[in-house]
Amino acid sequence: MKGSQKAGVMTRLAFGILAAIVVPAQAADLLIEQVTVVSPQFAAPQPKQNVLIRDGRIVSVSSKPVSAASGATRIDGKGKFLTPGLMDSHVHVGEVPGFPFGAESDPAMAPLRDAYTRQQPRSYLYYGVTQVLNLLGSPDAVAAFEAQPQHPDLYRCGAAISLDGYPSAFIPDPAVRYNAFPDYIYEPANAEKHPLPAGADAAQHTPEAIIGKLASSGVRCIKIFIEDGFGPASFWPIMSKETLQRVRAETRKRGLLLIAHANAIDMQRIAVEAQVDVIAHGLWNWNEYSTDQGLPPAIAAHLRDVHAKKIGYQPTLRVIAGLADLFREDTLKDPAYAKVVPPALLAWYATPAGQWFKEETRKFMGGVPDMKAMHTYMVISSYGMRATKYLNDLGHPLLLGSDTPSAPTFGAQPGYDTYREMRMMAQSGVPLPAIFRAGTINNARQFGLDKEYGTVEAGKVANLLLLTANPLETMRAWTSIDRVILRGSVIKRESLAAPRE
Ligand SMILES: [Zn+2]
Repeated sequence: MKGSQKAGVMTRLAFGILAAIVVPAQAADLLIEQVTVVSPQFAAPQPKQNVLIRDGRIVSVSSKPVSAASGATRIDGKGKFLTPGLMDSHVHVGEVPGFPFGAESDPAMAPLRDAYTRQQPRSYLYYGVTQVLNLLGSPDAVAAFEAQPQHPDLYRCGAAISLDGYPSAFIPDPAVRYNAFPDYIYEPANAEKHPLPAGADAAQHTPEAIIGKLASSGVRCIKIFIEDGFGPASFWPIMSKETLQRVRAETRKRGLLLIAHANAIDMQRIAVEAQVDVIAHGLWNWNEYSTDQGLPPAIAAHLRDVHAKKIGYQPTLRVIAGLADLFREDTLKDPAYAKVVPPALLAWYATPAGQWFKEETRKFMGGVPDMKAMHTYMVISSYGMRATKYLNDLGHPLLLGSDTPSAPTFGAQPGYDTYREMRMMAQSGVPLPAIFRAGTINNARQFGLDKEYGTVEAGKVANLLLLTANPLETMRAWTSIDRVILRGSVIKRESLAAPRE
């Protein structure tokens, strides 16, 4: 019996026991009655369930009536579907979509930044995202996110980068670069091209020292970047094989997951060889194997390797689609934008200043017109979509991660992109039940959070969604959220929309 099947049987046994011994409800309780529970431990939706919630946790899930105290909050769940809240395992809460680098600390941009900071966690919740994993971001940004009155539960990774490597490579001024990315690993063998910065102590920039420092800050994973350049460029330094081995050994020693940024076939092969736990991007750069249709044997072999080695995989299809959206005529007119973007920020996106990244990207592409740029990115996107479908067809459990924002594009927005990521998975040919698992139990298991989240089950955190459609049958379920339940508090979805100033 496979582990997951065993867990399923045990859950059903527990379910049976709970059906017999029903806990009476108390005054402060929340009772959702006669609801259809859609949860990954069940092969099919469970109709007519009564779900009792107390002190932010699920007390019982039962088809038997629950005797509720007079003060208990009751929700009539008839005709509705109760699911676990979604987890997005790839976000960057400190970056405002569309801002130039460093604009977050520019006083002139403070009103827009602050409006975004207030709305960001609400936008995640608006699309049913009740847990996020922040990969790379400052402690200040995390604190600002958690200071908001309503926010998803946040978990963190720490980032260990190569000295002068991606993503610090974008910052030309070394002083600014080392200040923005202090957790770099120095490799003496690379000293000629990438010398230790003046005043730095080599002993504090070994793999062991950097991972030790990040571990003591309470992260649950370490992110590394296997990226030698975008497009035809490949001149950014990446860690040597020996350094990767030391990073792997140190993360294992400290019980931390190792997450790799890698989206090109040569880079993902390095990630597989380095025995990372999770590849944080889909495979959309096929390099010499590029072809308009099908899946070349070399790409298929790599993906089978990912599957055989049980490496977690985040398709992050929105990364490239979010670039295509820069060049779409209707991106800022999308009605969903008004729900998740503060009005002042939405207005700024439409100004010449707000279009800076679109114009920079156009320049990078040789000054092409909008349609051509959009088409180019949609073609690149199709590679990632084909790889995603192939992995799913192998039976590989996918992880839902939007990488919001992956670049300074206004085409990436919190919450909305988690939903659009799921929609792109569906467009790639991933069935709805597999997408549901990617956003619930797969993420919870991968990141060691399945005791707390991932199913509607007694004992778990009451981060739940009440939907008006079944997410195993229609994507529309994710845009017809009735209420979000956050640690037992009931929030009407519309109250989470960006305020109209
Ligand atoms: Zn990212």
